Amino acid sequence: MNTSIIGYPRIGNLRELKFASEKYFRKEITLSELEDTAKEIRSYNLNLQKNSGLDFIPSNDFSFYDGVLDTAFLLNAVPARYTSLGLSELDTYFAAARGYQGEKGDVKALAMKKWYNTNYHYMVPEIDDTTEIRLAGTKPFDLFSEAFENGAKTKPVIIGAYTFLKLARYVGSKKATDFVQQTAEAYSELLAKFSSFGAEWVQFDEPSLVKDMTAEDIALFTSLYEKILSNKGIVKVLAQTYFGDVRDCYKEFTSLDFDGIGLDFVEGKKSLELVKANGFPKGKVLFAGVVNGKNIWRNNYASTLKIIDELKKHTDNIVINTSCSLLHVPCTLANETKLTDSYKKHFAYAEEKLGELAEIKKILESGSPAETDEYIRNTALHSEVRSGRNDAVREKVANLTEQDFVRLPEFAEREKIQKERFNLPLFPTTTIGSFPQTAEVKSKRKAFRTGEISESDYEKFLKAKIADCVALQEEIGLDVLVHGEFERNDMVEYFGECLDGYIFTEKAWVQSYGTRCVKPPVVWGDISRAKPMTVKWSVFAQSLTDKPMKGMLTGPVTILNWSFPREDISLKESALQIALAIREEVLDLEANGISVIQVDEAALREKLPLRKSDWREDYLDWAIPAFRYVHSGVKPETQIHTHMCYSEFADIIRDIDDMDADVITFEASRSDLTILDVLKENNFRTEVGPGVYDIHSPRVPSKDEIKDAVAKMRARIPAEKLWINPDCGLKTRGNEETVPSLKNLVDAAKEVRNENC
Ligand code: GLN
Ligand code: ZN
Repeated sequence: MNTSIIGYPRIGNLRELKFASEKYFRKEITLSELEDTAKEIRSYNLNLQKNSGLDFIPSNDFSFYDGVLDTAFLLNAVPARYTSLGLSELDTYFAAARGYQGEKGDVKALAMKKWYNTNYHYMVPEIDDTTEIRLAGTKPFDLFSEAFENGAKTKPVIIGAYTFLKLARYVGSKKATDFVQQTAEAYSELLAKFSSFGAEWVQFDEPSLVKDMTAEDIALFTSLYEKILSNKGIVKVLAQTYFGDVRDCYKEFTSLDFDGIGLDFVEGKKSLELVKANGFPKGKVLFAGVVNGKNIWRNNYASTLKIIDELKKHTDNIVINTSCSLLHVPCTLANETKLTDSYKKHFAYAEEKLGELAEIKKILESGSPAETDEYIRNTALHSEVRSGRNDAVREKVANLTEQDFVRLPEFAEREKIQKERFNLPLFPTTTIGSFPQTAEVKSKRKAFRTGEISESDYEKFLKAKIADCVALQEEIGLDVLVHGEFERNDMVEYFGECLDGYIFTEKAWVQSYGTRCVKPPVVWGDISRAKPMTVKWSVFAQSLTDKPMKGMLTGPVTILNWSFPREDISLKESALQIALAIREEVLDLEANGISVIQVDEAALREKLPLRKSDWREDYLDWAIPAFRYVHSGVKPETQIHTHMCYSEFADIIRDIDDMDADVITFEASRSDLTILDVLKENNFRTEVGPGVYDIHSPRVPSKDEIKDAVAKMRARIPAEKLWINPDCGLKTRGNEETVPSLKNLVDAAKEVRNENC
């Protein structure tokens, strides 16, 4: 029995790629120095995988920014506005990823979206009527050759044709179906080329197959692959799915001429059922995703063996696989020096998952699996009773009633009360919370953590930063202020550290987008609020100004979605436990004179099940109430804001309104403001601040550009409901962009106000 993984984290054990890329962006290192770092990471990862005994080692899972963007470049699907800048190949690529503002021009980045139900983000390929899809790049071949020279015949990994065409945005009149022929030819050529390179297998990632598929989708998928596979030559093709099951197309999928079929038995609720009901075709290899590629808990070998035993009844051609790319877990436990073994023994990061695959293989190959040491140790680990139970919290959750989830009086009445209380100008301006986390802020935090500076010195520093931030906002003329979130490393980790039941890691970084990584905390036990988490900072900030100061919290759904969740209790139970804790903080802020409280639900959309039929029961039915519970206890005059990243919530717009916040701000600029029509059509009740510029890019929006965005918003949103703000927190930006951007924003707001008077 062989083992495989779908992909490995590419950021480096200590985020080497992030730091090198950022240096390259700042022109502190050369292209070849950046490439050296990339090469070192690849060769390190390759050796690790080779030494673990892994049979199918992926290549081309490396990326300088994002694998979908790589595929767009590979297939020549790059808008002319980037290629015409006249930059080098890699700089053109970075221009599409991050936008470009310099002597050669001024272009925005491509749109960025969440990768299925993960916190990874991909760049959305843009296809117009002039796009000519063809095999234009060499990266997969170069990386295959590089690995080959390093002693491994790898399995190159490429986003599959169907998924690529489904993820692309069509800005002209042509649609996906108009590109079938070209795309199929490009992929055929790719296979032919890999044949000539001596590759044995090529993996096409087709996660879009686990989404709801219409008859047209299935037709698109089959017509692509009938063409691609018709002359695939000697190379074997693995179609790899993940993040769910392929219930809509199992029959078509398994009858195509693929040599390998990759199914997810972790998140794919129906994967096993599908194999049982329909069988599995002889002569094909089943890549069985049984090791969770998204969570950090040790695999339960007994459960895994059970799945494999079931599968063996239908095929004897099984490769043990991870459920998805290991991109979504941290690299290695080796750098977790502070966590004790009592925790760590339950964890498996990417490197440890390689070890698990090897152990599972060994167990399966032995005559009596249950008697192997590996199996016995694993069973003992999973039968341990874990610490961290809190009966009081469990009881509170069990006793929640319908009324606990309802805020009174109703929205319209509150809106009136709040308009009177705050007396804000038309189109009030605000920001999303964080201000630039400069090198100074980060190094002070580090100094505090390592004990180089005392707690009181650190506090003094933070207070000075807050004071500067408040003064800056007053000077710029913003209406509702924030304290800047300088005390936070991350909007989830910060709260994780203040909550009992959470544990946090030192180096468990996971790529979120490009060079941005997050370090999700781990839900270990039952959650409760150990102490006030933000009150001190908000109260201090409010004391410096007469303008309303927003208290700034992260909501329960986002905290949970951006943590590594428990697997022994339901997500609903965990979300309500966290909601209990955040509600305490909300009430504490209110009691301490904070009149506006923002509860960020940046990641609300993220874990929405990929299939519509699962939405309510598996998610919305508990996620929306969890948010409502957080604020249902505040006074009518307290204004509750929420914020969401990525406005892909057209299809759950009613549920968003139903969260019953008073104001919502969200990302809109990158998605071309399409969400505005949806707000209008649905008579959206909550006041809204669709972001007027994109903070993920270092460019400074002009006043006129912002006015244009506002004009589009004005056409669809009643003036008295519209707020003006950037589209997300400013922490990843520098002051040099932030200050002029916000000045332009306030100037734009003032002019629009005048024009509306
Ligand atoms: N309040 C947070 C911030 O400004 C929100 C971040 C987010 O939406 N990801 O940083
Ligand atoms: Zn955001």
